[in-house]
Amino acid sequence: MKYWNPYLETLSREDLNKIELSYFRNIFSFAKNNTILYRDKLKGIDSNDIKTLDDVKNLPFTDKEELRKYQEMAPYPYGGVLGGKIEDVTTFRQTSGTTGKPVYVPETYESWQWRIEAWCHILYMAGFRPHHRIFLPFGYNVYVAFWEAHYASEKLGCELIPGGALDTKGRIHKVIETRANGMMNTPTYGLHIAEEAKKMGIEPASLGIERMLCAGEPMPSATRLKLEEIYRCDVYDHIGGTEPCAWAGMCEAKDGMHIIEPFFLVEILDRETLQREVGEGEIGVAVVTPLGRRSFPLIRFNTKDLVIKGEGSCPCGRTSGKIKEVVGRTDDLRKVRGVLFSPKTVEEVIRKEFQEVEEFEIIVERRGLMDVILLRAEVSPQLPVGSIEQTRTRLVESLKIATNLSFHVIIEPPGSLPRYMLKAKRFRDMREGERNE
Ligand SMILES: [Zn+2]
Repeated sequence: MKYWNPYLETLSREDLNKIELSYFRNIFSFAKNNTILYRDKLKGIDSNDIKTLDDVKNLPFTDKEELRKYQEMAPYPYGGVLGGKIEDVTTFRQTSGTTGKPVYVPETYESWQWRIEAWCHILYMAGFRPHHRIFLPFGYNVYVAFWEAHYASEKLGCELIPGGALDTKGRIHKVIETRANGMMNTPTYGLHIAEEAKKMGIEPASLGIERMLCAGEPMPSATRLKLEEIYRCDVYDHIGGTEPCAWAGMCEAKDGMHIIEPFFLVEILDRETLQREVGEGEIGVAVVTPLGRRSFPLIRFNTKDLVIKGEGSCPCGRTSGKIKEVVGRTDDLRKVRGVLFSPKTVEEVIRKEFQEVEEFEIIVERRGLMDVILLRAEVSPQLPVGSIEQTRTRLVESLKIATNLSFHVIIEPPGSLPRYMLKAKRFRDMREGERNE
């Protein structure tokens, strides 16, 4: 079978719009009648006022700050964001809290099943089938993504091996022992496992991984291709978050990502005014409404993810809208010496042109009145000492071309930069008044 849900995945645009409008009006009424947050926010607006999907554009956005504020009230710990009764909540999840106090996410059994079903689309599109034995090299803790992956792969009929509570070496041994042929990973950790395997004298391609799904970080296509080359496998990407769920994934055409419609209403809006839906090929901010999750309803959640809008058609035959690429987070997009800069561009350059660079870190500082942008690049121990200066010069040149900024490049010895298990923190903005991610 080609699709997880042949009916939904091949609906016409017209039918999708009709269904999404009806779902939107339902969740709108539910949120207004069942949460304190939306009782306040949507006061004076009636679901009958929403006659077309264009009318949605007149409604207020929801952002993380409001969720934090409303969860301060009773009932603990979800407060005014909880949809329904506290007794019905069956699972506790939360955001990572890297940008402030965590947001606590209540899931009822029904809402959790809705999330799992959306995730089944992501896995099925990435080619996972019942013969796959998937190794998941993380302890999931209270974070949502890998729990969703776990239950969705079970629902698909795959065999799931939870690989938490082991160190990286232990995980590599477990993959070999179980003959796992699938893996889910963050791009950073995928590269790290490969590096560790090589140190153990094991060729990553010999592990027998056929398929990998990545999560957690914006993945430049050069990083995806590098993972494909190292493991000699197919690597897929998806995008989502704790609050809105995973809302788009890559199909086997590997050309952008399909929005999981009609589970989500996704608007891609111009980043200056957040008013206008951008055109194909344009960058915009993704604003997402999960259309069927009631325990934690969200109306027009501003994800702060910057994406490029894709074409409406795909060789795979799915009819949902697409995003061409994830650019990064609006929080990560900074002005350095007046130039708009995204750390993802640096990763793209390094993974594509500098195989000898194993890890890196970008630091922006203010020296006097000048912004200075530093790249600390850690090179492979195999790189001859005589070639280090050449790598440094090439980095300065390539980064200048890609970003229009002059980098100070410092070459660091092997093993000197931190390695990350989940989300990498390779970008630090040390200027006063800038948020340090
Ligand atoms: Zn497709």
